[in-house]
Amino acid sequence: MDLDDTPEEATFRAEARAWLEGEVEPLAPGEAPAAISEFEDPDEIERSRAWQARKAEAGWACFTWPVEYGGRGGTSTQRSIFAQEEARFRIPPDVFTAGIGMAGPTLLAHGSDEQKRRWLPGMARGEQIWCQLFSEPGAGSDLAALRTAAIRDGDEWVVDGQKLWSSAANLADWGLLLVRTDPDVGKHAGLTYLLVDMRSPGIDARPIRQITGGANFNEVFLTGVRVPDANRLGEVGGGWSVALTTLMNERSSLGAGGTGGALGVRALIALAAATHDERGPLLGDDAVCEAIADCYVRSKGVVYTSWRTQTAMSRGVPPGPEVSIAKLVAGRMRQDMMALALDLQDLFGAVVASDPAADHLPWDHGYLFAPAARIGGGTDEVLRNIIGERALGLPPEPRVDKGLAFREIPTGR
Ligand SMILES: Cc1cc2nc3c(=O)[nH]c(=O)nc-3n(C[C@H](O)[C@H](O)[C@H](O)COP(=O)(O)OP(=O)(O)OC[C@H]3O[C@@H](n4cnc5c(N)ncnc54)[C@H](O)[C@@H]3O)c2cc1C
Repeated sequence: MDLDDTPEEATFRAEARAWLEGEVEPLAPGEAPAAISEFEDPDEIERSRAWQARKAEAGWACFTWPVEYGGRGGTSTQRSIFAQEEARFRIPPDVFTAGIGMAGPTLLAHGSDEQKRRWLPGMARGEQIWCQLFSEPGAGSDLAALRTAAIRDGDEWVVDGQKLWSSAANLADWGLLLVRTDPDVGKHAGLTYLLVDMRSPGIDARPIRQITGGANFNEVFLTGVRVPDANRLGEVGGGWSVALTTLMNERSSLGAGGTGGALGVRALIALAAATHDERGPLLGDDAVCEAIADCYVRSKGVVYTSWRTQTAMSRGVPPGPEVSIAKLVAGRMRQDMMALALDLQDLFGAVVASDPAADHLPWDHGYLFAPAARIGGGTDEVLRNIIGERALGLPPEPRVDKGLAFREIPTGR
């Protein structure tokens, strides 16, 4: 892998930077990018939509999507270069992760031409917010254990059940919905993948208040919800392989992001330089430098591992276990960085400020949010299982429900 830009990539990077400079303010030295948002401010959502629309209009959105579906027909390397450059600017938080990051690639891989034309161009312009309706009270890490059922009624499916931890379901226009359509076959074989209009009668999204104070993830009740069969992605009973496309894209977008952590080691260095004890700036302290260096080394490891994914994808090879490695290390690293930042701020570190402009706010919020990033999109333990089995060739976990029809799997009820 060559980490330097080729001449073409360097030209592309310069063009991207020049365009961004004409559109948005750069971050000040040491300034942290926008914190992960829980999108409770309607203005923030509108800013996010407007920024996406502006990028789409100027040809800087959805790099790898074909032009006829609202993309640029470019490469994943260009996407990654643009993301690196964009991270240097004051851009609004991104409300389109489930849409552009997950629904888009899933539609491109499994949708009919009609479905792609129906959803993708509007998605690229930021017109739709999407959510992922996969997890349930009894189905998270073991997603194929889900029980939300859909029964065919003519040209429609009638859906009943409950989903859980659905980020942005309370804001979303569309949902990626995985349902059980046949309980008489093995648990992976009886699933079907639907795209559901979140304004359909029978959908009740109830936000859950989190430790951060935000409430952007939800329990979602589905009662007699009618979904046209035209909104099905893939075959009836073929939902598992469609869901795997979504999950792989979720993990690669959560895992590394190409910039090695939401707030960045540079912001941590700036914080240590600006924070003093009686001996002077904390950046002069050996133990602080060592802790920051440790974060730096890990963040570089995450970035380079994510570039391996980009290189594989640019050659048409699907991402492998390195995606799980990047997410595992990035999640832990981010949590350690937030904890270090709070330590550096001493008593002020734990103050949850009501003023969003306060210097320390992103660190408080980041610290409280950090454990969630080690759960969503695959927990640490599950990622370790994947690395053990697929990268190290260790024996697989015992699977007691193998060969059983879903209906026969004991539930304890
Ligand atoms: C911030 C956030 C956002 C989320 N957004 C969404 C969303 O938009 N849509 C959606 O569908 N879901 C979402 N989720 C749900 C997420 O995907 C699940 O929480 C996750 O898959 C874990 O499932 P679970 O919570 O059911 O825990 P469980 O699977 O019950 O796991 C409980 C514990 O047991 C461990 N464990 C489970 N199985 C094994 C095993 N085989 N080996 C070793 N240890 C194991 C787990 O690692 C964990 O520590 C989100 C979660 C979070 C935190």
